Amino acid sequence: MDRYAVIGHPVAHSLSPDIHAAFAAATSQSIRYEKLPAPRDGFSLVAERFFAEGGAGLNVTVPFKEEAARWVNALDPAAREAGAVNTIARRAGRFQGYNTDGAGLVRDLVDNCGETIRGARILLIGAGGAARGVAGPLLDQRPRHLVIANRTEPRAIALAEGLRQLRRGALVEAAALSAVAQRFDLVISATSAGLDGAGVPELPPESVVGACCYDLVYAASGASDTAFCRWAEACGARRVVDGLGMLVEQAALAFELWRGVFPATGPVLELLRARGV
Ligand code: NAP
Repeated sequence: MDRYAVIGHPVAHSLSPDIHAAFAAATSQSIRYEKLPAPRDGFSLVAERFFAEGGAGLNVTVPFKEEAARWVNALDPAAREAGAVNTIARRAGRFQGYNTDGAGLVRDLVDNCGETIRGARILLIGAGGAARGVAGPLLDQRPRHLVIANRTEPRAIALAEGLRQLRRGALVEAAALSAVAQRFDLVISATSAGLDGAGVPELPPESVVGACCYDLVYAASGASDTAFCRWAEACGARRVVDGLGMLVEQAALAFELWRGVFPATGPVLELLRARGV
């Protein structure tokens, strides 16, 4: 039976084993998927041991995605652009790194939520690993423009500049959180604000009026349970969505990379929602 795992610190809360077990059952694949905790300075040691013992693939979560991008032998284009890997597959004795986070977000927004990214005015909040993972795949969908705003503005400027260099002509700009002045069709929060008790990013409320607001953070009973979604709803967002769908979609893309079959995601999302995550 092929072995897979999610490596992270911490990893005890991860839903990935449940999601992959459900995919495997639905597609009649025989796999084992476990949680692989690693100390902060122990990614390479734990990953090497896992593969030496016959492991077939890893999902990588906080805080190891950037380190994983340096550890693998080769990167797919999305992982190279993001500088971060969330999926590792062993291929002919070499380790291939992928990043399925951005494609997972796009699938959730477009296929599950029915939102249109092409031609949309998008605000992306954050400039950490998750924002870097989703920015390129969002631009691939040809929005009208993408504004990146981050609490530490120089990180937003660096991310926007990097994207403009890689994608000549891409309409990407950076802004300070408090200086975001326009209206948007889509506002995506890729921050960990709220998790650290510090509340929501300090954005002008006008920036979310009439927008679909998507929080990469997910919550037990859905969007109404994340701090950013609650705030956006109170400010007049058109709709709010939490990141559980993205989690399931990025997992399905990883499953397909490993097993060659794309599992149905709707039933798994429903299952997690029914369970209250
Ligand atoms: P990260 O690399 O640590 O980056 C954190 C980001 O949040 C930075 O931009 C940081 O701004 C910002 N931030 C933190 N506290 C803030 C506050 N109080 N106000 C404003 N901005 C704040 O983390 P990450 O890997 O990007 O992950 C971000 C979130 O996305 C996490 O909650 C993670 O769980 C979630 N995520 C979800 C999925 C999914 O499938 N749904 C996938 C990937 C990630 P500074 O630069 O100023 O520090």
